[in-house]
Amino acid sequence: MNLIFLGAPGSGKGTQAEIIEKAKGLCKLSTGDMLRAAVKAGTEVGRKAEAVMQAGGLVSDEIVIGIIADKIASVECKNGFILDGFPRTIAQAEALDKMLATNGMKIHKVIELAVDEDILVERISGRYSCAKCGTGYHDKFKKPKHDSACDNCGSHEFIRRKDDNAETVKARLEAYNAQTAPLKPYYEQKGKLVAIDAMQEISAVTESLEKIIQAA
Ligand code: AMP
Repeated sequence: MNLIFLGAPGSGKGTQAEIIEKAKGLCKLSTGDMLRAAVKAGTEVGRKAEAVMQAGGLVSDEIVIGIIADKIASVECKNGFILDGFPRTIAQAEALDKMLATNGMKIHKVIELAVDEDILVERISGRYSCAKCGTGYHDKFKKPKHDSACDNCGSHEFIRRKDDNAETVKARLEAYNAQTAPLKPYYEQKGKLVAIDAMQEISAVTESLEKIIQAA
């Protein structure tokens, strides 16, 4: 099963992809995570992407298509994948269609995680993640279960993303509305788009997703 989670920054794509990845044995492919890892490692891709990410813009189609291309048909993803944060432009969606066709693969469903814009900022400003394993948390909505230790790996070290600040968030929302929202009609025309209410509690959103995946 190959899925795309589509939604604005803060809509919960990463959180839900993490849960569904474990529950269904799928592989989460997040271009944001891959780019942050490239920045941290100081690779050529990382050096090219860093300033754009910090400003809240979109990294070039060429770069993100390149980093996703060798993943979708990889052995780790043999049970299927969840794309989180990709595609973000029509050009990326078209490139993805070509890559899939070449490999005899397809997208089964594109699930839009719909959230009102005023809620997104609150969600983004409270989030952080484990510095060791990357599990995501939120000051208000998802604290670690035991004191300040990561539920997944027990680490006590947490980090906040540099681009989760008010100014950058505004630019990221603008980029979403201008460049990514047009993917909704693109996938609707192909009969692949399903929208869910992602303003519910995390567990209720997961339930909605599982129903769609079951029926797909
Ligand atoms: P995310 O973690 O998905 O919110 O992505 C963080 C940042 O990485 C975005 O604001 C973009 O600058 C960049 N990025 C991630 N995925 C893409 C993509 N598919 N296309 C262009 N830029 C991306």
